[in-house]
Amino acid sequence: MAGEPQADCLFCKIVTGEVPATIVRETDTTVAFRDINPQAPTHVLVIPKVHYRDAADLAAGDPQAMADVLREAGEVAAQEKVDEHGYRIVFNTGAGAGQTVWHTHAHVLGGRGFNWPPG
Ligand code: 5GP
Ligand code: ZN
Repeated sequence: MAGEPQADCLFCKIVTGEVPATIVRETDTTVAFRDINPQAPTHVLVIPKVHYRDAADLAAGDPQAMADVLREAGEVAAQEKVDEHGYRIVFNTGAGAGQTVWHTHAHVLGGRGFNWPPG
């Protein structure tokens, strides 16, 4: 069934606690934890507890969960105090765009300047 946990998924294992992570926020539907390889002073991943492969699949299959992820991204930015200066929410989608974990995740990046166009 769509959204069901996948046995071989790293982020499903972070949801259950089987793989440890530095969790900064948790709700009934989301978990936010620090990226193991941070690319900015604040680099937090926000994931839905349900398993979908990317942002568009989550939006199509469980729009409320996608809204929850985006709301929590904003809450993380406020909690980390990067909201005033500005921060970036990134969903790498597909291997060519740098996606390496196939469970939807929003990167919340802040605490430094960001270029546009992105690299
Ligand atoms: P992607 O490349 O799919 O957009 O993002 C995956 C992110 O997950 C990467 O930024 C990577 O550093 C992070 N990551 C990979 N494995 C782990 C892990 O075991 N724990 C944590 N906290 N982050 C991870
Ligand atoms: Zn998963």
